[in-house]
Amino acid sequence: MNKEPFVTYDQLKEIVEQFPTPFHLYDEKGIRENAQAVKEAFSWNQGYREYFAVKAEPNPFIMNILKEYGCGCDCSSMTELMLSDALGIRGEDIMFSSNETPPEEFQFADKLGAIINLDDITHIDFLEQTIGKIPETISCRYNPGGVYEVSNGIMDNPQDAKYGFTKEQLFEGYKLLKQKGAKRFGLHSFLVSNTVTNDYYPTLAKTLFELAVEIKEKLGITISFINLSGGVGVAYKPQEQPNDIRVIGEGVHKVFDEVLVPAGLGDTAIYTEMGRFMTGPYGCLVTKAIHEKHTYKEYIGVDACAANLMRPAMYGAYHHITVMGKEHAPCDHKYDIVGSLCENNDKFAVDRMLPEIETGDLLVIHDTGAHGFAMGYNYNGRLWSAEVLLKEDGTTQLIRRAQTPKDYFATFDCFDILKNMNYNGV
Ligand SMILES: *Cc1c(COP(=O)(O)O)cnc(C)c1O
Repeated sequence: MNKEPFVTYDQLKEIVEQFPTPFHLYDEKGIRENAQAVKEAFSWNQGYREYFAVKAEPNPFIMNILKEYGCGCDCSSMTELMLSDALGIRGEDIMFSSNETPPEEFQFADKLGAIINLDDITHIDFLEQTIGKIPETISCRYNPGGVYEVSNGIMDNPQDAKYGFTKEQLFEGYKLLKQKGAKRFGLHSFLVSNTVTNDYYPTLAKTLFELAVEIKEKLGITISFINLSGGVGVAYKPQEQPNDIRVIGEGVHKVFDEVLVPAGLGDTAIYTEMGRFMTGPYGCLVTKAIHEKHTYKEYIGVDACAANLMRPAMYGAYHHITVMGKEHAPCDHKYDIVGSLCENNDKFAVDRMLPEIETGDLLVIHDTGAHGFAMGYNYNGRLWSAEVLLKEDGTTQLIRRAQTPKDYFATFDCFDILKNMNYNGV
């Protein structure tokens, strides 16, 4: 497959006149079409709800677009809760799927009326002590342990993951929660990240649906909602076949009819907490080639760095790169595309075959719409970039300005000389 940017070279030349590189650009049209497709794919389920994983792209403009399609928010920290609250997303429109949770975050989640999704059996007592009760609606996160295999070799090791209850703990936990007054129960699990197969959700659904039937039979507890969480992936590489959410939705539907309906659990609501799939392909990092270096390898230095996009440095993740204006030129040059951090893993691409790059060329780094800007950091005193929304009508809107030195130094209140620092307008 040929991976094309969602923005044309002519459009981008205009955009960079208004917004200096680097910046993350988002595709409103793509986000909307995809959100609509997700909604339709699960419309067979009465109670279906997507809780957008805020950590993937914690931007209120993007969250508000998703809200129009009925999405709630999946939060796991105080500031994510605050962001949802500020947008009027409260009550059961929030799924609080946290772990190692500080008490004040449980208190705030409870104050907002969020659904609390417990990560561990010990959190039952911790929650009760912290908020003085067990909420009527409560969810538990399941970790089956072992190795979890989906299809064509895609798997992960839940046994090594810090999340969730063991199966024994889950049964104990629901019993205890019921004793303590809980009335409506949810089941959650997140077993494999970034799956590029239409089989992950249906496979996970079967595991969780069978478990819900067992819980009903053994404990007499009805699971009201089953949360398939995140993990639906993005085709970062051009040779990968993107997931088809319609096929995924139908796959879950089939298992639902096979397992839950005959067990009298046909009223179960299906929830998802997708982050990556909701926004990943609809964002890109726009950066400019500012240096070329010819040593033992050929390097192109760009004005973005790992502080703007950490995934390649952190996971060795592949992000496709398009050299704008040279979309159809032969990829006959081998480059390392590098940022400015004093850190040798600051490489957006290693040994990548690309068209010849000249200083001043604009590069689009694809699929940064989730876990992209959001994972930004300030190492080397590098500042966060702006975020820009490419609207459906082709105009642009600044949805987060770039960080300034003043922002960067703002937490040094205790250091007097910085208070009087002259930033010379930057
Ligand atoms: C990160 C996360 C998600 C979203 O995962 P994606 O892979 O971005 O879809 C959902 N739920 C929980 C609990 C998470 O930690």
